[in-house]
Amino acid sequence: MSALLDELRTGLAALDAAALRRLRRSNALPCAPHARIEGRELLAFCSNDYLGLAGEPTLAAALAKGAARWGCGSGASHLVSGHYTVHDELEAALARFVGSERALYFSTGYMANAGIVPALVGRGDAVFADRLNHASLVDGMLLSRAEMQRYPHRDLAALARQLEASGARRKLIATDAVFSMDGDVAPLAELYALACRHDAWLLVDDAHGFGVLGPQGRGALAAAGLADAAEAWRVIYVGTLGKAAGVSGAFAAGSAELIEWLLQKARTYIFTTGAPPALAHALLASLALIEAGDARRARLHGLIALFRARTALVRWRLMDSATPIQPVLIGDNAETAAVAKALLDEGLWVPAIRPPTVPAGSARLRVSLSAAHGEADVIRLADALARLERRFGA
Ligand SMILES: *Cc1c(COP(=O)(O)O)cnc(C)c1O
Repeated sequence: MSALLDELRTGLAALDAAALRRLRRSNALPCAPHARIEGRELLAFCSNDYLGLAGEPTLAAALAKGAARWGCGSGASHLVSGHYTVHDELEAALARFVGSERALYFSTGYMANAGIVPALVGRGDAVFADRLNHASLVDGMLLSRAEMQRYPHRDLAALARQLEASGARRKLIATDAVFSMDGDVAPLAELYALACRHDAWLLVDDAHGFGVLGPQGRGALAAAGLADAAEAWRVIYVGTLGKAAGVSGAFAAGSAELIEWLLQKARTYIFTTGAPPALAHALLASLALIEAGDARRARLHGLIALFRARTALVRWRLMDSATPIQPVLIGDNAETAAVAKALLDEGLWVPAIRPPTVPAGSARLRVSLSAAHGEADVIRLADALARLERRFGA
């Protein structure tokens, strides 16, 4: 037998030994707070479906209508023949919604980030990245072959020093707008000012802010008052469409020149089959729901406030977050896993996030809230957490 297969077996055994093997759980119900796993009903606080749109019947109907109108597949990549008028409509609607000149629709957020960074910088250039950025931005940096400088989380002084000292020809600052394991928001106005001062691009990945933050859910830039920035052309805004938008895909928005350049150069846009046009049709409906979704956002923010007011912890810590990502910092890996298991035994599904996804010693429960939750759901979780903290501390 080949050593190749042996290596996989050893590697999998090592994951088991370190309690790091990841498990998929197969849900028998559509995305919603109520899940059914192996026949058991669970109340889930796991998804990024912040507005509860993933299971929204009118969106499913829009998708069905889109499929009736457009069929299933696009048949080719966008630049060959897989681009349809409904994709244009979606891009125009997205650009208008976030206040940019133009937008480009990608199949996923991962692909957007992995394609945008190498399209803008390469050898001899430098990318400056918050240490807690999403993996897709990290992979985009690696693919670009630009020098990679990571700065401590939200540390503007460290970033300023790195920018000052850099002799790179082109510079790009990349940041998550809302950090996915912490729920806190990047200092976007200050990052923008640094980008202007050092003539750098600013890539803002708003996967968790689009649809949730800002007026009508227009996102983190609008929330930070940067929607009409003087040098808006510097900003590459990425929104994803599989989280609050409840469907799938992502987009980049910015100046007409930037978007045309990405269309010409982003390999993850060019060398992949165009996303099904029916999805674009559904996304137009989703965008309309987001824009008209103040009631959903008010409900979500009410639930966030309720969870924060109700969660009284002593040893553990509810991290400082105003977004639907409400992590409970526990610290120890084994304790975090045991608490997640105890919650599951009570029918509460909350993911345990451990290193290397988060720094060593900062294992946590990643609670995420949705407008589809009820107040009773949130109270049930908050009270279970307080009770388990006492039990585990005893
Ligand atoms: C989820 C996520 C992505 C990836 O988006 P997908 O559409 O799921 O591929 C990118 N960046 C951040 C910060 C994310 O949380």
